[in-house]
Amino acid sequence: MPAKILIIEDEQAIREMICVALHNAGFDCQEAADATQAQARILSAMPDMVLLDWMLPGISGVDYARRLRQDRLTRHLPIIILTARTQEEDKLKGLETGADDYVTKPFSTRELLARIRALLRRSAPQTADIAVEIGGLQLDPVTHRVQANGARLALGPMEFRLLHFFMTHPERVHSRERILDSVWGGNVYVEERTVDVHIRRLRKVLEASGHDTLIQTVRGAGYRMSAQD
Ligand code: CA
Repeated sequence: MPAKILIIEDEQAIREMICVALHNAGFDCQEAADATQAQARILSAMPDMVLLDWMLPGISGVDYARRLRQDRLTRHLPIIILTARTQEEDKLKGLETGADDYVTKPFSTRELLARIRALLRRSAPQTADIAVEIGGLQLDPVTHRVQANGARLALGPMEFRLLHFFMTHPERVHSRERILDSVWGGNVYVEERTVDVHIRRLRKVLEASGHDTLIQTVRGAGYRMSAQD
């Protein structure tokens, strides 16, 4: 699944140019001309990253970045700020809002793509299409196949996404809220106990090979994938 990138930029020519470059590089690109449009897009389908222009009509890019960081839903959403401002002070101000990176206009497509890929690797390894393996359990995001000690497992789409999330974020406790944000996204209203239902299904499939014990319940906190007891 290609990473979905939302570009928020009021200048149509720049927005379209970036979108074409993103498409050519194999990304899925969405466009918004201001913060209001961006918010609607985010609610209908959570992107994997936001490219946010500093100078926007209405809510500025910097203020919007701050809002994204304050909102539970978008707290972890990777943000790159695009700006014509070159002052060191401005750069700091941009990063203080919680943005992850900062690209100064004019930039080359190559530079922008390099920054996007670097940030995706840091923040969302599940979109990087890299096969993962933990304790004999293997998941390949490209072929969508899961194997336990070499034997194919049949997972439903939600269980696959859930397992992919866990395998790319092991040894950490994830609250149900965080799991919902990362696996389900913000487009639907889902109750937290939905997570429990899908965890149960996932464990059921993993039971035969004994891999169900990789997914640990952490009382009062959430779930963790770990090969250790
Ligand atoms: Ca602008």
